[in-house]
Amino acid sequence: MNILICNVGSTSLKYQLFRMDEGEQVLAAGGAERVGAVKSLFYHKNNVAGDSVRQEMPLPSHREAICAMLEHLLAGCIDSLEEISCVGFKVVHAKGVTGVQYLTEEVLQAMADFNAVAPAHNPPYIAAIRQFRELMPSTPLLGSFETGFHAQMPPEAYLYPLPAQLCRDRAIRRYGFHGASHEYLTAWVSEAMGRKDLKIVSCHLGGSGSLAAVKNGVSVDTTMGMGLQCGVMHNNRIGDMDPYIIFYLVEESGMTSEEVKTLLQTKSGFYGMSGGVSNDLRDIEEAANRGNEDARNAIRSYAYSIKKYIGAYTAAIGGLDAVVFGGGIGRNSPTVRQMSLEGLECLGIRVDEEKNQHAKGGADISVPGSPVRVYVVDTNEEIIVARKAMTLLQKG
Ligand code: ADP
Repeated sequence: MNILICNVGSTSLKYQLFRMDEGEQVLAAGGAERVGAVKSLFYHKNNVAGDSVRQEMPLPSHREAICAMLEHLLAGCIDSLEEISCVGFKVVHAKGVTGVQYLTEEVLQAMADFNAVAPAHNPPYIAAIRQFRELMPSTPLLGSFETGFHAQMPPEAYLYPLPAQLCRDRAIRRYGFHGASHEYLTAWVSEAMGRKDLKIVSCHLGGSGSLAAVKNGVSVDTTMGMGLQCGVMHNNRIGDMDPYIIFYLVEESGMTSEEVKTLLQTKSGFYGMSGGVSNDLRDIEEAANRGNEDARNAIRSYAYSIKKYIGAYTAAIGGLDAVVFGGGIGRNSPTVRQMSLEGLECLGIRVDEEKNQHAKGGADISVPGSPVRVYVVDTNEEIIVARKAMTLLQKG
């Protein structure tokens, strides 16, 4: 069974074609960047033939990017589109819908109902899914919602202190995201430690990041909320913030609510805190090393919030067996890991700094014999989506 997994961004498309019945082999992988710009980039790697393509080409919309992908898949990976059993999407959010689902018109409508909550994610996904439907009319389209892994959180973790009826009427609650990554990271730890009865804090830290408190394989709390604008800060999006700052800016500084929304969605997080250095932590670390105080404060503040959540989640799950780091930052920044964990010996966390500095995916960076294991893991969200899609497809 071949399953095509697609990840849609507002200006990007990433894909992997998995053969699931022969040990989860990746037949091909690729993507498109700067979709909609004058010059877009398309890249494709065919693992069957062992060749790859990387070319600038006009891709005015996702439709052209999807066509380029299908053309390349048909040129050496598969003989016909019938060989693709389904397309699986790592979809983000829908009102009243979670888990893995066939992407019917009702499900797309439920996604559209939450456009205001996930404005950067839902509209491009819905548009791209419609293009897939036109271009691959006989292939089932399935979505695994990022909220699924957190669906068993208890009410004390997901309820907001707002009028109960308003929350019920408007589906206002904490949902949580990055479910595929948290699921992969914590399952990896469980496998590495040979146990399922574990208390784990999972740190998915990428351009967008969240932590999850996972007890016996179940997420019982997470830092993201109804939408993706809270918890630890993100590349250019706000994290936790007093909501009254919004009213203060609108009422006292003359900004419109649209301007404040743009500020929170695109000019905050690392980008805003560093004084506009960049939304990429690599640039901010470099600026901090050159003495830029705003850049230093952005990293300090980020690490501090991770540390606070590790402490809070250890209390929430009544102890700690492991902390796991994944995502572009979690996997690649020894600085963030070191700063987030320093001083947490009181929780049983002791990091070997030499191992931390040189950690590769799959590393245990804790001091041997210390009570809490600390892992750095290459997350694999796509394989989680592919497995869920296969299970749903097999159920029929
Ligand atoms: P996304 O959340 O967009 O899917 P990733 O999980 O790939 O992205 O994370 C991307 C981020 O990872 C980059 O914006 C950058 O801040 C960070 N990153 C990648 N490599 C490094 C590195 N070597 N050092 C520090 N940060 C890094």
